[in-house]
Amino acid sequence: MGAEDEIIKIGKKLEKLISSNTADHSSALDLLKALRDTKMTLEVLQKTRIGMTVNNLRKASSNDEVVSLAKTLIKHWKRLLPADSPGGISRSNSRSSGDASSQRMDETSNDGTEESKGDSSKDGQSGQTRTQNTTDAVRIKCRELLSNALKASEIPDGAHNPDELAASIEDAIFEEFGNTEMKYKNRVRSRVANLKDARNPQLRQNVLIGLISAQKIASMSAEEMASKEMKQLREKLTKEAIDDHQMAKTGGTTTDLFKCGKCRKNNCTYNQVQTRSADEPMTTFVFCNECGNRWKFC
Ligand SMILES: [Zn+2]
Repeated sequence: MGAEDEIIKIGKKLEKLISSNTADHSSALDLLKALRDTKMTLEVLQKTRIGMTVNNLRKASSNDEVVSLAKTLIKHWKRLLPADSPGGISRSNSRSSGDASSQRMDETSNDGTEESKGDSSKDGQSGQTRTQNTTDAVRIKCRELLSNALKASEIPDGAHNPDELAASIEDAIFEEFGNTEMKYKNRVRSRVANLKDARNPQLRQNVLIGLISAQKIASMSAEEMASKEMKQLREKLTKEAIDDHQMAKTGGTTTDLFKCGKCRKNNCTYNQVQTRSADEPMTTFVFCNECGNRWKFC
């Protein structure tokens, strides 16, 4: 309970900072660091809504350090969401985005646009000369896969050499992980899949003509790589999952009508929402006040 109270306290201070609109970056940073050093559980996350608060801070802050620490925290907390959610609302949503979803969660950065600034300008020349030759069989194979993905469809005018680009991308990925183990392979695999994605030809073309540098594509999240439509769709799904998560807790009605499937107690808060068209029944979101379990039904 101690950690939860502490987090609620921090959350209140953060909200105050956000609403007062001050540029008190060091206080914000101290609070975020305190959060980072506190053990977070799914239960506490749900009860305190601290994720929303930190996300609001991230959006409101103009300080790079604050934004990046907030992002890191959110990223870590998101990992708590899908695995441990019986009756999982977020789980059912992430499942719909395919089997790579767990990896997507890991790679998620809410808007990675800042990191990309200036990338296109330094692309090309620097990106390709930096490439090291390799004799490692795995790395050679991965370069081949990336190269084939880049050549999967017609090559636009003014494109860079796909083989060299593939080597640069592989090089950047190898540099990040320092080995060719699972994370490295997953990263290469997701690049290949996205570059080959017929619904997203723009990505491949942008990489080939240098609009997206080899360094950039090497580290982009699945969301960033996805086409604009897919990107918006996924943002919406993520937002819904988070909203669902919070819904039952906020402004709901306390009742003993429902029995929690997890702790078997009858102390729940529920909320009814019209999630579909008006002539369909309402969706009921239930939150267990005892253990933080939540579920929904129609
Ligand atoms: Zn319960």
